[in-house]
Amino acid sequence: MIYLDNAATTRTAPEAVRAMMPYLTDFYGNPSASYDFGNRAWQAVQEAREIVAEFINADPSEIIFTSGGTEADNMAIKSKAGNNLSFVRTSMIEHKAILNCMSSVSTLSPILVDKNGVVKLDERLAGMNDIVSVMMANNELGTIQPVKKIADLCHQTGAKFHTDAVQVFGHMPIDVKKIDIDMMSASGHKMGAPKGVGFLYVRKGLSIPPFIHGGGQENFMRSGTENVPAIVGLGRAVEITKQKMNDRFYETKELRDSFEKMILKIGDVKINGYNAKRLPGHSNITFYGIRAEEMLEYLNMYGICASSGSACNTGDEKPSHVLKAIGLTDAEANATLRFTMNHENTIEELKFTVDKIKEFLAIKRPR
Ligand code: PLP
Repeated sequence: MIYLDNAATTRTAPEAVRAMMPYLTDFYGNPSASYDFGNRAWQAVQEAREIVAEFINADPSEIIFTSGGTEADNMAIKSKAGNNLSFVRTSMIEHKAILNCMSSVSTLSPILVDKNGVVKLDERLAGMNDIVSVMMANNELGTIQPVKKIADLCHQTGAKFHTDAVQVFGHMPIDVKKIDIDMMSASGHKMGAPKGVGFLYVRKGLSIPPFIHGGGQENFMRSGTENVPAIVGLGRAVEITKQKMNDRFYETKELRDSFEKMILKIGDVKINGYNAKRLPGHSNITFYGIRAEEMLEYLNMYGICASSGSACNTGDEKPSHVLKAIGLTDAEANATLRFTMNHENTIEELKFTVDKIKEFLAIKRPR
Protein backbone atom coordinates (compact mmCIF):
# COMPACT_ATOMS: atom_id res chain seq x y z
CA MET A 1 0.00 0.00 0.00
CA ILE A 2 1.07 3.57 -0.68
CA TYR A 3 -0.81 5.78 1.74
CA LEU A 4 -1.22 9.33 0.44
CA ASP A 5 -4.29 10.32 2.43
CA ASN A 6 -2.74 11.53 5.66
CA ALA A 7 -5.12 14.49 5.90
CA ALA A 8 -7.97 11.99 6.24
CA THR A 9 -6.28 10.08 9.03
CA THR A 10 -2.88 8.81 10.09
CA ARG A 11 -1.41 5.63 11.47
CA THR A 12 -1.58 5.62 15.27
CA ALA A 13 2.02 6.02 16.46
CA PRO A 14 3.34 2.77 17.98
CA GLU A 15 4.42 4.75 21.06
CA ALA A 16 0.83 5.96 21.50
CA VAL A 17 -0.52 2.41 21.15
CA ARG A 18 1.96 1.19 23.79
CA ALA A 19 0.98 3.99 26.17
CA MET A 20 -2.72 3.17 25.71
CA MET A 21 -2.48 -0.58 26.29
CA PRO A 22 -2.40 -0.56 30.11
CA TYR A 23 -5.58 1.54 30.13
CA LEU A 24 -7.33 -0.95 27.85
CA THR A 25 -6.25 -3.91 29.94
CA ASP A 26 -5.15 -3.56 33.56
CA PHE A 27 -6.07 0.00 34.56
CA TYR A 28 -9.67 0.15 33.45
CA GLY A 29 -10.93 2.16 36.43
CA ASN A 30 -13.42 4.98 35.99
CA PRO A 31 -11.56 8.28 36.40
CA SER A 32 -14.47 9.68 38.44
CA ALA A 33 -14.31 6.88 41.01
CA SER A 34 -12.96 7.83 44.44
CA TYR A 35 -10.67 4.81 45.08
CA ASP A 36 -7.02 4.62 44.02
CA PHE A 37 -7.75 2.37 41.04
CA GLY A 38 -10.02 5.06 39.55
CA ASN A 39 -7.61 7.76 40.56
CA ARG A 40 -4.91 6.13 38.47
CA ALA A 41 -7.02 6.67 35.34
CA TRP A 42 -7.85 10.21 36.43
CA GLN A 43 -4.14 10.97 36.85
CA ALA A 44 -3.44 9.66 33.35
CA VAL A 45 -6.09 11.96 31.90
CA GLN A 46 -4.68 14.95 33.79
CA GLU A 47 -1.16 14.17 32.60
CA ALA A 48 -2.35 14.08 28.99
CA ARG A 49 -4.19 17.36 29.56
CA GLU A 50 -0.97 18.97 30.80
CA ILE A 51 1.02 17.69 27.82
CA VAL A 52 -1.56 18.91 25.31
CA ALA A 53 -1.93 22.29 27.05
CA GLU A 54 1.82 22.90 27.18
CA PHE A 55 2.14 22.05 23.49
CA ILE A 56 -0.16 24.94 22.51
CA ASN A 57 0.87 27.29 25.35
CA ALA A 58 -2.43 26.93 27.19
CA ASP A 59 -3.36 26.17 30.76
CA PRO A 60 -4.58 22.59 31.45
CA SER A 61 -7.89 24.04 32.69
CA GLU A 62 -8.46 25.44 29.18
CA ILE A 63 -8.56 21.99 27.51
CA ILE A 64 -11.88 20.14 27.12
CA PHE A 65 -11.37 16.63 25.75
CA THR A 66 -13.90 15.63 23.09
CA SER A 67 -14.50 12.74 20.70
CA GLY A 68 -12.60 14.61 17.96
CA GLY A 69 -12.59 17.65 15.73
CA THR A 70 -16.23 17.47 14.72
CA GLU A 71 -17.46 17.54 18.29
CA ALA A 72 -15.07 20.36 19.21
CA ASP A 73 -16.31 22.41 16.24
CA ASN A 74 -19.95 21.78 17.21
CA MET A 75 -19.22 22.76 20.80
CA ALA A 76 -17.58 26.03 19.75
CA ILE A 77 -20.26 27.07 17.27
CA LYS A 78 -23.32 25.96 19.18
CA SER A 79 -22.01 27.39 22.44
CA LYS A 80 -23.32 30.77 21.39
CA ALA A 81 -26.43 29.48 19.63
CA GLY A 82 -28.60 29.99 22.70
CA ASN A 83 -27.60 33.62 22.85
CA ASN A 84 -29.85 35.51 20.43
CA LEU A 85 -27.62 38.56 20.56
CA SER A 86 -24.77 36.81 18.80
CA PHE A 87 -24.15 35.75 15.22
CA VAL A 88 -21.62 33.36 13.76
CA ARG A 89 -19.51 34.32 10.77
CA THR A 90 -17.37 31.81 8.99
CA SER A 91 -15.51 31.31 5.71
CA MET A 92 -16.66 29.55 2.55
CA ILE A 93 -13.95 26.89 2.85
CA GLU A 94 -14.62 25.56 6.34
CA HIS A 95 -15.01 21.84 7.01
CA LYS A 96 -18.57 20.49 7.06
CA ALA A 97 -18.20 20.12 10.85
CA ILE A 98 -18.50 23.92 10.93
CA LEU A 99 -20.66 24.60 7.88
CA ASN A 100 -23.36 22.10 8.80
CA CYS A 101 -23.71 23.69 12.25
CA MET A 102 -24.80 26.91 10.59
CA SER A 103 -28.41 25.83 10.22
CA SER A 104 -28.69 25.81 14.02
CA VAL A 105 -27.25 29.29 14.67
CA SER A 106 -27.81 32.84 13.42
CA THR A 107 -25.26 33.59 10.75
CA LEU A 108 -23.73 36.54 8.96
CA SER A 109 -22.70 36.39 5.28
CA PRO A 110 -19.75 34.04 4.65
CA ILE A 111 -16.20 35.37 4.46
CA LEU A 112 -14.97 35.10 0.88
CA VAL A 113 -11.71 33.51 -0.23
CA ASP A 114 -9.33 34.37 -3.05
CA LYS A 115 -8.40 32.04 -5.91
CA ASN A 116 -5.52 30.61 -3.89
CA GLY A 117 -7.82 29.51 -1.10
CA VAL A 118 -6.97 32.20 1.44
CA VAL A 119 -9.69 34.21 3.19
CA LYS A 120 -10.14 37.86 2.24
CA LEU A 121 -10.12 40.06 5.29
CA ASP A 122 -12.59 42.85 5.83
CA GLU A 123 -12.19 45.44 8.53
CA ARG A 124 -15.51 44.82 10.22
CA LEU A 125 -15.55 41.06 10.45
CA ALA A 126 -18.27 40.85 13.07
CA GLY A 127 -19.91 42.83 15.85
CA MET A 128 -19.69 42.61 19.61
CA ASN A 129 -20.74 39.19 21.01
CA ASP A 130 -20.48 37.54 17.60
CA ILE A 131 -18.21 34.58 16.84
CA VAL A 132 -15.93 34.37 13.84
CA SER A 133 -14.77 30.89 12.91
CA VAL A 134 -11.99 30.52 10.37
CA MET A 135 -9.88 27.40 10.07
CA MET A 136 -6.12 27.58 10.67
CA ALA A 137 -5.45 25.66 7.45
CA ASN A 138 -7.79 24.19 4.89
CA ASN A 139 -8.11 20.42 4.80
CA GLU A 140 -8.39 20.10 1.01
CA LEU A 141 -5.83 22.64 -0.16
CA GLY A 142 -3.60 22.88 2.89
CA THR A 143 -3.69 26.67 2.59
CA ILE A 144 -2.75 28.45 5.81
CA GLN A 145 -5.11 31.21 6.87
CA PRO A 146 -4.11 34.57 8.40
CA VAL A 147 -5.49 33.68 11.82
CA LYS A 148 -3.49 36.23 13.82
CA LYS A 149 -4.86 39.08 11.71
CA ILE A 150 -8.38 37.66 11.99
CA ALA A 151 -8.09 37.35 15.78
CA ASP A 152 -6.93 40.98 16.01
CA LEU A 153 -9.78 42.21 13.80
CA CYS A 154 -12.29 40.24 15.90
CA HIS A 155 -11.00 41.66 19.13
CA GLN A 156 -11.16 45.23 17.82
CA THR A 157 -14.94 44.92 17.65
CA GLY A 158 -15.40 42.63 20.65
CA ALA A 159 -16.15 39.52 18.58
CA LYS A 160 -14.79 36.14 19.67
CA PHE A 161 -12.50 34.08 17.45
CA HIS A 162 -12.72 30.33 17.00
CA THR A 163 -10.35 28.40 14.76
CA ASP A 164 -10.51 24.81 13.53
CA ALA A 165 -6.88 23.74 13.80
CA VAL A 166 -7.51 20.06 13.02
CA GLN A 167 -5.09 19.98 10.07
CA VAL A 168 -2.40 22.05 11.77
CA PHE A 169 -2.25 20.55 15.26
CA GLY A 170 0.83 18.33 15.47
CA HIS A 171 2.21 19.52 12.12
CA MET A 172 3.17 23.12 12.86
CA PRO A 173 3.67 24.99 16.13
CA ILE A 174 0.57 26.67 17.60
CA ASP A 175 0.69 29.27 20.36
CA VAL A 176 -2.88 30.11 21.36
CA LYS A 177 -1.77 33.08 23.47
CA LYS A 178 0.40 34.64 20.78
CA ILE A 179 -2.31 34.30 18.15
CA ASP A 180 -4.91 35.42 20.72
CA ILE A 181 -7.37 32.62 20.07
CA ASP A 182 -10.60 32.37 22.06
CA MET A 183 -11.52 28.80 21.08
CA MET A 184 -9.65 26.20 19.05
CA SER A 185 -10.61 22.71 17.84
CA ALA A 186 -8.11 19.90 17.34
CA SER A 187 -8.24 16.19 16.61
CA GLY A 188 -5.92 13.33 17.49
CA HIS A 189 -6.14 11.04 14.51
CA LYS A 190 -4.55 13.49 12.06
CA MET A 191 -1.28 13.45 14.01
CA GLY A 192 -0.57 9.93 15.21
CA ALA A 193 -3.11 9.66 18.03
CA PRO A 194 -6.07 7.26 17.80
CA LYS A 195 -9.43 8.10 16.28
CA GLY A 196 -12.21 9.34 18.52
CA VAL A 197 -10.30 11.86 20.59
CA GLY A 198 -9.67 15.58 20.27
CA PHE A 199 -10.23 18.72 22.28
CA LEU A 200 -11.61 22.21 22.35
CA TYR A 201 -9.37 24.90 23.80
CA VAL A 202 -11.46 27.57 25.53
CA ARG A 203 -9.64 30.64 26.76
CA LYS A 204 -9.85 31.15 30.53
CA GLY A 205 -12.55 33.67 31.34
CA LEU A 206 -14.62 32.93 28.26
CA SER A 207 -17.79 31.44 29.55
CA ILE A 208 -19.65 28.99 27.33
CA PRO A 209 -22.53 26.78 28.46
CA PRO A 210 -22.12 23.00 28.89
CA PHE A 211 -22.33 21.11 25.62
CA ILE A 212 -23.21 17.63 26.92
CA HIS A 213 -25.12 17.39 30.17
CA GLY A 214 -24.61 14.56 32.62
CA GLY A 215 -22.19 13.67 35.38
CA GLY A 216 -20.12 16.86 35.11
CA GLN A 217 -16.88 15.54 33.59
CA GLU A 218 -14.53 17.90 31.78
CA ASN A 219 -15.36 20.77 34.10
CA PHE A 220 -19.11 20.30 33.49
CA MET A 221 -18.63 21.22 29.82
CA ARG A 222 -18.71 17.74 28.32
CA SER A 223 -20.19 15.08 30.52
CA GLY A 224 -19.58 11.40 29.91
CA THR A 225 -16.90 9.02 31.17
CA GLU A 226 -13.62 10.05 29.58
CA ASN A 227 -12.14 7.89 26.82
CA VAL A 228 -9.07 7.27 28.98
CA PRO A 229 -7.00 5.10 26.58
CA ALA A 230 -7.53 7.48 23.66
CA ILE A 231 -6.73 10.54 25.77
CA VAL A 232 -3.53 8.85 26.99
CA GLY A 233 -2.72 8.01 23.35
CA LEU A 234 -3.20 11.65 22.40
CA GLY A 235 -0.86 12.78 25.16
CA ARG A 236 1.83 10.34 24.04
CA ALA A 237 1.42 11.25 20.36
CA VAL A 238 1.90 14.90 21.30
CA GLU A 239 5.09 14.07 23.22
CA ILE A 240 6.50 12.23 20.20
CA THR A 241 5.40 14.93 17.78
CA LYS A 242 6.92 17.69 19.88
CA GLN A 243 10.38 16.21 19.47
CA LYS A 244 10.05 15.52 15.75
CA MET A 245 7.68 18.12 14.33
CA ASN A 246 10.29 20.48 12.93
CA ASP A 247 12.25 17.74 11.09
CA ARG A 248 9.07 16.08 9.85
CA PHE A 249 7.83 19.41 8.48
CA TYR A 250 10.87 19.80 6.22
CA GLU A 251 11.07 16.11 5.25
CA THR A 252 7.41 16.13 4.25
CA LYS A 253 7.65 19.41 2.38
CA GLU A 254 10.62 18.13 0.40
CA LEU A 255 8.66 15.03 -0.60
CA ARG A 256 5.61 17.09 -1.55
CA ASP A 257 7.66 19.58 -3.56
CA SER A 258 9.42 16.75 -5.46
CA PHE A 259 6.05 15.15 -6.17
CA GLU A 260 4.65 18.42 -7.53
CA LYS A 261 7.73 18.98 -9.71
CA MET A 262 7.11 15.58 -11.32
CA ILE A 263 3.37 16.30 -11.67
CA LEU A 264 3.91 19.71 -13.30
CA LYS A 265 6.06 18.07 -15.99
CA ILE A 266 3.03 16.01 -17.08
CA GLY A 267 1.22 19.12 -18.36
CA ASP A 268 -2.50 20.01 -18.43
CA VAL A 269 -2.60 20.07 -14.67
CA LYS A 270 -3.09 22.77 -12.06
CA ILE A 271 -1.97 22.67 -8.44
CA ASN A 272 -4.63 24.40 -6.37
CA GLY A 273 -3.41 26.72 -3.63
CA TYR A 274 0.11 26.59 -5.13
CA ASN A 275 0.77 30.31 -4.61
CA ALA A 276 -0.37 30.40 -1.00
CA LYS A 277 1.47 29.35 2.16
CA ARG A 278 0.52 25.70 2.59
CA LEU A 279 0.86 22.85 5.04
CA PRO A 280 3.90 20.74 4.08
CA GLY A 281 2.10 17.58 2.96
CA HIS A 282 -0.90 18.77 0.95
CA SER A 283 -1.08 18.58 -2.82
CA ASN A 284 -4.40 19.30 -4.51
CA ILE A 285 -4.25 18.75 -8.24
CA THR A 286 -6.69 19.26 -11.11
CA PHE A 287 -5.97 16.91 -14.03
CA TYR A 288 -7.90 18.54 -16.85
CA GLY A 289 -10.23 16.30 -18.82
CA ILE A 290 -10.47 13.35 -16.44
CA ARG A 291 -12.85 12.16 -13.74
CA ALA A 292 -11.23 12.02 -10.32
CA GLU A 293 -13.26 9.00 -9.28
CA GLU A 294 -11.87 7.01 -12.23
CA MET A 295 -8.31 7.99 -11.44
CA LEU A 296 -8.80 7.05 -7.79
CA GLU A 297 -10.09 3.64 -8.84
CA TYR A 298 -7.08 3.15 -11.10
CA LEU A 299 -4.64 4.15 -8.36
CA ASN A 300 -6.48 1.92 -5.90
CA MET A 301 -5.75 -1.09 -8.14
CA TYR A 302 -2.07 -0.47 -7.34
CA GLY A 303 -2.69 0.07 -3.63
CA ILE A 304 -2.38 3.85 -3.82
CA CYS A 305 -4.70 5.69 -1.42
CA ALA A 306 -5.62 9.28 -2.27
CA SER A 307 -8.88 11.19 -2.18
CA SER A 308 -11.10 13.56 -4.06
CA GLY A 309 -12.44 16.46 -2.01
CA SER A 310 -12.67 15.63 1.66
CA ALA A 311 -12.73 12.04 2.90
CA CYS A 312 -15.05 13.20 5.64
CA ASN A 313 -17.70 13.80 2.95
CA THR A 314 -17.75 10.20 1.79
CA GLY A 315 -20.69 9.44 -0.46
CA ASP A 316 -21.03 13.11 -1.32
CA GLU A 317 -21.07 13.26 -5.11
CA LYS A 318 -21.32 17.03 -5.27
CA PRO A 319 -18.21 18.94 -6.34
CA SER A 320 -16.19 20.13 -3.38
CA HIS A 321 -17.45 23.44 -1.92
CA VAL A 322 -13.83 24.42 -1.31
CA LEU A 323 -12.84 24.03 -4.95
CA LYS A 324 -16.00 25.85 -6.04
CA ALA A 325 -15.18 28.68 -3.61
CA ILE A 326 -11.78 29.22 -5.27
CA GLY A 327 -13.42 29.44 -8.67
CA LEU A 328 -13.15 25.95 -10.17
CA THR A 329 -15.97 24.82 -12.47
CA ASP A 330 -17.90 21.64 -11.60
CA ALA A 331 -15.92 19.73 -14.26
CA GLU A 332 -12.59 20.99 -12.90
CA ALA A 333 -13.58 20.21 -9.31
CA ASN A 334 -14.58 16.70 -10.36
CA ALA A 335 -11.19 16.29 -12.05
CA THR A 336 -9.30 17.08 -8.85
CA LEU A 337 -7.48 14.76 -6.46
CA ARG A 338 -5.94 15.38 -3.07
CA PHE A 339 -2.67 13.69 -2.13
CA THR A 340 -1.50 14.21 1.43
CA MET A 341 1.92 13.00 2.48
CA ASN A 342 3.73 12.72 5.76
CA HIS A 343 7.13 11.69 7.07
CA GLU A 344 6.32 8.00 6.57
CA ASN A 345 6.21 8.33 2.77
CA THR A 346 9.22 7.83 0.53
CA ILE A 347 10.32 9.34 -2.77
CA GLU A 348 10.09 5.85 -4.35
CA GLU A 349 6.39 5.71 -3.44
CA LEU A 350 5.83 9.09 -5.02
CA LYS A 351 7.71 8.16 -8.22
CA PHE A 352 5.61 5.01 -8.50
CA THR A 353 2.43 7.06 -7.98
CA VAL A 354 3.43 9.54 -10.69
CA ASP A 355 4.10 6.61 -13.07
CA LYS A 356 0.61 5.24 -12.40
CA ILE A 357 -0.92 8.69 -12.90
CA LYS A 358 0.88 8.95 -16.26
CA GLU A 359 -0.37 5.50 -17.23
CA PHE A 360 -3.93 6.47 -16.40
CA LEU A 361 -3.65 9.74 -18.32
CA ALA A 362 -2.24 7.91 -21.35
CA ILE A 363 -5.43 5.83 -21.42
CA LYS A 364 -7.81 8.73 -20.75
CA ARG A 365 -6.08 11.41 -22.75
CA PRO A 366 -4.84 9.55 -25.84
CA ARG A 367 -2.75 11.73 -28.15
N1 PLP B 1 -12.06 19.90 10.70
C1 PLP B 1 -11.18 19.67 9.73
C2 PLP B 1 -10.47 20.82 9.08
C3 PLP B 1 -10.94 18.36 9.30
O1 PLP B 1 -10.06 18.13 8.32
C4 PLP B 1 -11.63 17.29 9.92
C5 PLP B 1 -11.46 15.90 9.43
O2 PLP B 1 -11.07 15.68 8.30
C6 PLP B 1 -12.51 17.59 10.97
C7 PLP B 1 -12.71 18.90 11.32
C8 PLP B 1 -13.24 16.50 11.68
O3 PLP B 1 -12.40 15.91 12.65
P1 PLP B 1 -12.75 14.49 13.28
O4 PLP B 1 -12.59 13.47 12.20
O5 PLP B 1 -11.77 14.33 14.41
O6 PLP B 1 -14.16 14.58 13.79
